[in-house]
Amino acid sequence: MKKIIITGGSGFIGSNLVNFLLQKKFFIINIDKHTYSSNSYNRITSKNYKFFKSDINNRKKIKNIIKKYKPKAIFNLAAETHVDRSINEPKNFINSNLMGVYNLLETLRYFKERKINIKLIHVSTDEVYGDISKNNKSDENHRYKPSSPYSATKAGADHLIQAYIRTYKLDAIISNCCNNYGPFQFPEKLIPKVINNIFYEKKIPVYSKGLNVREWIYVKDHCEALFSIYLKGKSGENYNVGSNINLKNIELVKKIIKICREQKINISKKSKITFIKDRPGHDFRYALNSKKIKNKLGWKPKIKIYEGLFKTIEWYKKNKKFLKAAKIFSKEKI
Ligand code: NAD
Repeated sequence: MKKIIITGGSGFIGSNLVNFLLQKKFFIINIDKHTYSSNSYNRITSKNYKFFKSDINNRKKIKNIIKKYKPKAIFNLAAETHVDRSINEPKNFINSNLMGVYNLLETLRYFKERKINIKLIHVSTDEVYGDISKNNKSDENHRYKPSSPYSATKAGADHLIQAYIRTYKLDAIISNCCNNYGPFQFPEKLIPKVINNIFYEKKIPVYSKGLNVREWIYVKDHCEALFSIYLKGKSGENYNVGSNINLKNIELVKKIIKICREQKINISKKSKITFIKDRPGHDFRYALNSKKIKNKLGWKPKIKIYEGLFKTIEWYKKNKKFLKAAKIFSKEKI
């Protein structure tokens, strides 16, 4: 049985990827330090799963885990991920997203020097490309121009990985994905926040006039893309992972409200769309050109936005405990 390490496997995408790869009959080792955005709700009972509570900066612990389990690959999803938090407190982002990646790279270099090859699939973001002008799309050769401390740490990590590939011949691939949505997402992010606020009769906050454009992918499509990259991706390459579903925030929020109505979810008058002061440095538009992964690896997204949102709302409706657990675990007002 092939063994794979997933770092950040208790977060949103990580939880989905752990479940996805367990179904594909891999032995999964999840290394996560359990920050506020982790969920203790995805309880896995499989004998093919092992969890270690650790920071990816703990090189000694990561080395020992690798020595014991001899994994074929590491999917790195451990990161601080909320742009607003990075604006308030960039340090945690530098520690996890930049120093954490440096520590993983040094660990892989240590093993490589001892003739043990471990493939790194590093999960990055479309935000590294910065604002994309109307009618344009960023392909993998687009210049990096991050705007927030979050995207700057992600961009820095991508550069560091490229340098380690070139200098130490590490076996690594980077994926740059657009905005994900689906089960297990912490309710500070737009889609679960809107759903949460509808369920709990709160205002629905939208930045500025809601005209910022984001590209949205259902998380299972992202997991399938990462699996294709692991199986068929070329070492040293970057792959954009996008859906071509580009929506203004306000359009997205209205879609969620409409589907909630269709699902007979009561929408209180208190859950009014409320425009709030814009985020500083807010990128207006992201849009990926994802032809490379489609043409070279044969991956394409399957889930349309209506279907994805429908499933997501249904999941949160059936799993209100997740929202409650997120509140307790994060000790925050959500
Ligand atoms: P998330 O915040 O839900 O989960 C991140 C997980 O990483 C958490 O469980 C947290 O405890 C863990 N973590 C953080 N710092 C750590 C550290 N130093 N050591 C060990 N564990 C640590 O985030 P997510 O949305 O699942 O994102 C996962 C990855 O995907 C991130 O790298 C993010 O940049 C990238 N990404 C996310 C999106 C998206 O829309 N969510 C889009 C593109 C790329």
